[in-house]
Amino acid sequence: MACYGLIGRKLGHSYSKIYFEQKFKDLKLLNHRYSLFEIEKLDGLKQLLSQWGLDGFNVTIPYKETIIPMLDNLDETAAEIGAVNCVTVEDGSMTGHNTDAPAFLHTLTHSDFRIPDSTTAFILGTGGAAKAVAWALRQLGMDYRHVSRHPELHPNTISYTDFSILIEQPSILIINATPLGMFPDVNTSPVVFSKLKHKPSLLYVYDLIYNPSPTRLLREAAAWGATVKDGLEMLHLQAELSWELFRKKHWNKVEHNE
Ligand code: NAP
Repeated sequence: MACYGLIGRKLGHSYSKIYFEQKFKDLKLLNHRYSLFEIEKLDGLKQLLSQWGLDGFNVTIPYKETIIPMLDNLDETAAEIGAVNCVTVEDGSMTGHNTDAPAFLHTLTHSDFRIPDSTTAFILGTGGAAKAVAWALRQLGMDYRHVSRHPELHPNTISYTDFSILIEQPSILIINATPLGMFPDVNTSPVVFSKLKHKPSLLYVYDLIYNPSPTRLLREAAAWGATVKDGLEMLHLQAELSWELFRKKHWNKVEHNE
């Protein structure tokens, strides 16, 4: 039996189990399982690992950064980003990876959601997903800042008040990497467009949230004339990249045991 899963605090919004179970069905991997683990604290991680015999797992809100000290190894990209959303397990040793970042990058370079070169990006939030997005924007050489409720605690970060004033460049990309608007709190939104001090000529709004789609943010942005994108494509891509990492470890194990 190969066991995988998702670890987070609240998982009612997650599509990962459905996604992986469909994949196992399509590939006729009848001895593969993907389970959801809602945990209040990361303290019990090692116990969870041995109890379920996990071969790998994904990590979501709010543990993408706090899990790092508990891991045995980090791959280069995850170390550079400072956040982990995928963990492979071999003989009880955990290695952290980040598949959010290459997935997000791919959606900017291989989809219809094309952003002009001179665009300035504002990443809402400073958590694990925000750090992955920032890494991808650095690969593209794009100018960006984070927007936070506590800008004094983070580098290259402004407040929401300054954001509403600074949004004056002609081409702006806003990326929501906060949970505002996510199921079940679907009536919340991190931006009130009518309160922004400027209306950029070109406005792009990317919400990492995929449940619901569109979010309130995307509905209001589209009504304001923005080009919008939800988090579904990124979700699928990060899951595919996680699966590649899981499968590589799985074959290592099978070959080793033969
Ligand atoms: P996280 O590590 O907990 O970070 C969320 C950030 O949002 C926090 O650092 C915080 O930044 C900000 N925030 C939290 N509560 C807020 C509030 N009430 N008001 C305003 N800002 C708030 O979470 P995450 O793992 O980065 O995930 C963030 C979102 O991205 C989630 O909705 C998640 O589902 C989504 N996501 C989607 C994908 C995908 O594949 N589509 C991948 C990854 C994540 P400040 O404290 O600095 O304000």
